[in-house]
Amino acid sequence: MPETCLFCRIVRGEIPATVVASNDEAIAFRDIDPKAPVHVLVVPRSHLSSLNDATDSALVGRLVALGTEVARREGIADSGYRVVINTNAHGGQTVNHLHVHVLGGRSMHWPPG
Ligand code: 5GP
Ligand code: ZN
Repeated sequence: MPETCLFCRIVRGEIPATVVASNDEAIAFRDIDPKAPVHVLVVPRSHLSSLNDATDSALVGRLVALGTEVARREGIADSGYRVVINTNAHGGQTVNHLHVHVLGGRSMHWPPG
């Protein structure tokens, strides 16, 4: 629900976050519990619960594109980074507002846990 959704509240400025990029449809801010030296979340301003609700594939593309822009700005584009969209329970999604993780600044492991 957008009223109580954590990331909707961050989008509205009701909960503080360290915003590193934004445009008219998305914001990118630092994860409060970073899993890598660079860990940024890209979220659409409009509430979508998960990737399953993202019927606008062009929007998903633009969210990822903002993530790549953040990676360039953060200086991890050349060394490499990981873009992740956890979806629902088995995907490890804990906040039910669509978000793209951008992780970098260290080597990532594969396969993921
Ligand atoms: P998920 O597990 O849903 O894929 O990712 C949710 C992410 O949101 C987690 O990495 C978690 O650390 C982050 N997170 C949870 N609460 C907050 C918060 O209040 N502020 C920020 N900036 N990140 C949060
Ligand atoms: Zn929301």
